[in-house]
Amino acid sequence: MTKRIPFISGNWKMHNTIAESKALAKAIADCKENKNNADIMIAPSYTSLAAVAEAVKGSKVAVAAQDVHFEEKGAFTSAVAPSQIKDAGASHVIIGHSERRSLFGDTDAILNKKVAAALKHGLTVVFCVGETLAEREADKTLGVIESQLENGLKGFTAEQLSSMVVAYEPVWAIGTGKTATPEQAQEVHASTRKYLSSKYGEDFASKVRIVYGGSVKTDNVDAIMAQPDVDGALVGGQSLVAEQFIRIINFN
Ligand code: PGA
Repeated sequence: MTKRIPFISGNWKMHNTIAESKALAKAIADCKENKNNADIMIAPSYTSLAAVAEAVKGSKVAVAAQDVHFEEKGAFTSAVAPSQIKDAGASHVIIGHSERRSLFGDTDAILNKKVAAALKHGLTVVFCVGETLAEREADKTLGVIESQLENGLKGFTAEQLSSMVVAYEPVWAIGTGKTATPEQAQEVHASTRKYLSSKYGEDFASKVRIVYGGSVKTDNVDAIMAQPDVDGALVGGQSLVAEQFIRIINFN
């Protein structure tokens, strides 16, 4: 099996001033401790993108936008285009976060266009999927995730998606303090990889990184990362504190 490089990412959501973002980014970039040789990504607010990109320049830390619009330019008040986030220094973009899906109405069809726009501009996509508690309780988890992948990634080839990272984030575990058990995460990651294999081939599936998100913390990251199909983490709350995020990067 291909050895996949761990991918540890922080989603800062709607937090931090520019000065706070810069300080946090610098603390992460300046830390030389990365014993797993993980790829590291941080996603500040749009307002801090350029400052954060500047602060981490020359380090291993990649910068992501938390979303992107699918249009190139024009009369789309408040929207930010792929070329603009690139211009601000982002190399990555989170697409399909459950907060975008549930609070801002991002449908699979919209997400599909966002993925297309991001790929066109050479951005690395972190594509989020995940079920609600009701869906899990109705035993629909795997079906929901397959359909989010099927519709959100419709029309792209394995080659186009080769740099993509998939983030499994059970909605009921985000910001709630409830984490999927390592076994629950492994079950979904394994079935997601199987689905991706049937869709894009075994080689693709053996290389694609599937990361877990939802209340990842310093005290549960080791057990989650020990699962064979968990290749990293997308961290919300604890990515806002440098020491905690650095501990998560250096999982055991
Ligand atoms: P959380 O957020 O770690 O605060 O649960 C994860 C996410 O939404 O990406």
